[in-house]
Amino acid sequence: MMADQLRVAGIIEHAAKWHGETEIVSRLPEGGIHRGTYAQAHARSKQLANALLRLGVADGDRVATIAWNTHRHFELYYGVAGIGAVCHTINPRLFPEQLVYIINHAEDRLLFFDLTFLPLVEKLAPACPKVEKWVLMAGPEYLPAASALPGLCSYEDLLAAESTDYEWPMLDENTACSLCYTSGTTAEPKGVLYSHRSTLLHAMAISLPDALNCSALDVIMPVVPMFHVNAWGLPYAAPLNGAKLVLPGAGMDAASLYELFESEGVTFSAGVPTIWLGLLQFMREGGRQFTSLRRTVVGGSACPPALMKAFEEELGVTIMHAWGMTETSPLGTAGHLKPKHQGLSPADSRAVRAKQGRVVFGADMKIVGDDGQALPHDGVAFGDLLVRGPWVVADYFRSGTPGELTADGWFRTGDVATIDPDGFMQITDRSKDVIKSGGEWISSIDLENLAVAHPAVAEAAVIGVPSAKWSERPLLVVVRRPGMDVSAEELLGFFKGKVAKFSEPDAVEFVEQLPHTATGKILKTQLRKDFAGYSIA
Ligand code: AMP
Repeated sequence: MMADQLRVAGIIEHAAKWHGETEIVSRLPEGGIHRGTYAQAHARSKQLANALLRLGVADGDRVATIAWNTHRHFELYYGVAGIGAVCHTINPRLFPEQLVYIINHAEDRLLFFDLTFLPLVEKLAPACPKVEKWVLMAGPEYLPAASALPGLCSYEDLLAAESTDYEWPMLDENTACSLCYTSGTTAEPKGVLYSHRSTLLHAMAISLPDALNCSALDVIMPVVPMFHVNAWGLPYAAPLNGAKLVLPGAGMDAASLYELFESEGVTFSAGVPTIWLGLLQFMREGGRQFTSLRRTVVGGSACPPALMKAFEEELGVTIMHAWGMTETSPLGTAGHLKPKHQGLSPADSRAVRAKQGRVVFGADMKIVGDDGQALPHDGVAFGDLLVRGPWVVADYFRSGTPGELTADGWFRTGDVATIDPDGFMQITDRSKDVIKSGGEWISSIDLENLAVAHPAVAEAAVIGVPSAKWSERPLLVVVRRPGMDVSAEELLGFFKGKVAKFSEPDAVEFVEQLPHTATGKILKTQLRKDFAGYSIA
């Protein structure tokens, strides 16, 4: 066989050659909609490559982005990686101190940012002396009249000065192509460095029918940001399959998303549960329906079964539940049925698909007990979830400390899970969120999923609080739906008969809003601080 290397540039080359007219449509953060094609994106990625080389960007250098999902961000994915540099996507929702830490730790040389983030980067820049040049991802007309940002220029000016002639080098496939830091809720953020090889293998694997099932007939809109684990690989999988790509920019509110879904004929989307909960409310309020959207993948946090039911029954959109992490590129499992499940009623089918799903070839997994021994796949035994495979992290970028690998080379996810006899993995908790009551372990995710099935509950979190008798008991913290009322007694009663008696929450507290991490998960470390001193007899 030929010794061709798996390279990210190979994807855009393929898309430009074989799907050149297929569109990439973006909502621009500076306003308006941009329509382009894969052929144009390829040409512009080459202009970017020439610009980066002229600026002295060398193999392995980090080029950072603080940006929404747009065609320019897409071009950076390919242009930066294509020359052998590393595209470091930064999550703007992190605290400024974390952003400064990440930029300095990665030693980013150039930083590309959207207009939305101009005030943010102006604040960060003095603490990031190693960034030589700041590039505004817009036309020159959006440059501020005065700015202290070193080397500030506009992206469009940068490209306009360059030729589209460029031959992507045949890089070794183990060369790094992108870098993403985990949100670090308890410690400093940690960097995960992806290779061309891991990215290509992951992009091909997520395209499979029992994974995200991507096709040239799809119109794919990743709502999950390109700064969160490469938008789950969709900016690679869409061009690899020749699917039209729709990028929502800064318009992350339900109305803007809905407008793009409809105007661009989106068939397939992806995002965290919060996005879909917001959209569901918006759809219900206006009695709206989707005309083209048929499927969406939900992950990042557990997808509440009530959300899956509402999307399928009220809106005709199938939710595919998937699990993954920054450290796993991210896809590990997807909730697709097996032959034995054919013919199940919609409710029974959903009960199977509500689990986080089956492993995708390439991401093997097992659950182990405290002694490190593998636990049975009986759907009951739960233990630490370990994964391994060619797109699973081996060690964190410049960590200086040992990674999370076991002696025999498995990555410790920090999640606790069961695996059933059909191979469906179900996350019961993050290991640090499990509630240990007496001799029993209580899954906070199970209780949260149930709570949001109550019509008056917009969002819910369950944390363990000290109990003299049981060591820990579950406290339910709830955000009520606007205009709806519900008492603590009523909510506690809602759990009766739905979970084991020992799992029922003991108390409910109502709050205006819950704290979230930069990737939209409930920030339980903060919640535990907020309720420090709370105890249950
Ligand atoms: P991140 O690296 O920010 O993507 O976070 C990864 C973590 O999110 C995982 O280790 C899980 O704890 C959680 N997670 C991701 N997907 C799911 C899911 N479908 N259900 C429950 N938790 C999930």
